[in-house]
Amino acid sequence: MLLEKMNGLKLAIVVPCYNEQEVLAITIQKLLDVLKELEQEKIININSFLYLVDDGSKDSTFEIIKTYNRTTKKVKGLKFTRNFGNQNAILAGLLGAKKLGCDCAITIDADLQQDENLIKEFVLKYKEGYEIVFGVRKEYKIKNPIKRLTSALFYKTMSILGANVIPNHSEYRLVGKKALETLSNFKEYGLFLRSVFTEMGYKTTILPYNTKARMAGKTKFNFASLCTLAINGITSFSVVPLRLVAILGIILTLVSFGVGLEVIWEKLYLKNTIPGWTTLVVCVCFFSGIQIFCLGIISEYLGQIFREVKSRPRYIEEMELI
Ligand code: UDP
Ligand code: MG
Repeated sequence: MLLEKMNGLKLAIVVPCYNEQEVLAITIQKLLDVLKELEQEKIININSFLYLVDDGSKDSTFEIIKTYNRTTKKVKGLKFTRNFGNQNAILAGLLGAKKLGCDCAITIDADLQQDENLIKEFVLKYKEGYEIVFGVRKEYKIKNPIKRLTSALFYKTMSILGANVIPNHSEYRLVGKKALETLSNFKEYGLFLRSVFTEMGYKTTILPYNTKARMAGKTKFNFASLCTLAINGITSFSVVPLRLVAILGIILTLVSFGVGLEVIWEKLYLKNTIPGWTTLVVCVCFFSGIQIFCLGIISEYLGQIFREVKSRPRYIEEMELI
């Protein structure tokens, strides 16, 4: 503890990388500069390191990591056998950094869209006693209007459903030793890290940051992968949709009962059943629509359970460079 106070703590910067050959060399260089600066200021110690996780890239991402690893042991790497997705890459990075004995770890994207100069503030917050520090985007700079809308919709839905998410927080965060230990006990397959860290109950704080445009290359997320992430987030952290289905079921039963009474009344008193045809068609369409919708929600949870009970490995490591 005394040594840590004198020489700073051991920080790991975890970077998930998927086909990032256009930006990776610059990113590694910039992050090494950040480490150097913090080491000189004695905020962190000289054993601090970068931990880059190659999430099954098809380009020369891992070659770049290897080259740096040969020249400096500050750059460590992990390679997956194939693409397991950003959440698993971050998870593997955090667990790998924990195994290497770091005091705290910061996750940041390989394109450095998040302001890397704020890393110092993150560490200072940790030193103040916060176990987890969440980076929060200052202003909304998502250019694509569809992405902007779906992102806002996602945060709104999550908050209505009672799942704990911090608006405009993505994966830029600091995680302390205790939280890393706790993370290793979260064994679920459909991992949604943002909520996992708010679930833990440790002392947390937020740190606003400015976003930059991607240095080069293209986004590695498409509409489908963003939807998967959002649905995973909802179905693994909230059972409210299932409850809504039950409530909807009760309401619809009452409505159907009313409609049934009306139909009987038409038949018995008006004695002209032809107009009832409209009611019938409307009812059939409405109810079958609702039923399919409800089945859809239930099948999402079924899928979640299906993936969990198999408890397959969340990622497979091919090689680690330490
Ligand atoms: N990423 C990953 N695996 C994937 C997709 C993305 O490890 O399957 C990484 C990517 O290399 C980057 C981070 O996740 O470091 C965020 O991706 P990106 O910058 O493309 O997302 P955006 O900023 O467009 O949301
Ligand atoms: Mg990005």
